[in-house]
Amino acid sequence: MFTRFLKEVTIKKFNLNRLNQPSHYSRAFSINTRFLKACSVCGNEIDQKLICPFKDCGSIQPPPYSINYFEFFELNPSYKIDPQSLRLKFFDIQRKTHPDNFYSKTNAGSSEDLSSWVNKAYETLKNPLSRAIYLLELNQVYIGESMELRDQSILLEIMELNEAIEDAQNADALHKIIIEVKVKLRDLENQIASEFDNKNYKEAQRLVINFKYFQNTLLSAQKRQEII
Ligand SMILES: [Zn+2]
Repeated sequence: MFTRFLKEVTIKKFNLNRLNQPSHYSRAFSINTRFLKACSVCGNEIDQKLICPFKDCGSIQPPPYSINYFEFFELNPSYKIDPQSLRLKFFDIQRKTHPDNFYSKTNAGSSEDLSSWVNKAYETLKNPLSRAIYLLELNQVYIGESMELRDQSILLEIMELNEAIEDAQNADALHKIIIEVKVKLRDLENQIASEFDNKNYKEAQRLVINFKYFQNTLLSAQKRQEII
């Protein structure tokens, strides 16, 4: 009976696809957003800036696909980042590359491409889970959509939490569960950071999967909180 229960719960509740994908934002570009050597419109040497500095041109350049998001935001490729610094750079770049500024330019389309690329880069690094997955990928360690939770003890813990969420009778009870899961997530974030620091990518991968499940649990609790 327990096995059947376990199976049902696993199918019902642990679908990783349900995980909210990060939405999109963009980034700030201060003095040194330089990635392309020549302007894609006038062909002049532009010292790799995102916007052509030539007065008659001023064209926005295509997204810098060849560099990674950490390089783009001038951050060390590390799990621990300074969120404030990331946010400031993002807003600065977002302001300077806003499509409205390039309305009359021949390459206004590039501005939208760049803007959406920058948004994606920002969201990926801002979110602790997508940042971890991205950093793993940069180190050739991948997390497939269907990757299963391997830790039996974590699985049981998640099951108990999900049951408690369903059984919660009032907002107070749910609030307690939410706090508990948030503490768990913070703890996992610290562990993940430390595994990245030690270049233990396989161990980081295991923890990131656990993180995904706890995050899904948090989302379930928050969803239930809206209707209780
Ligand atoms: Zn140009």
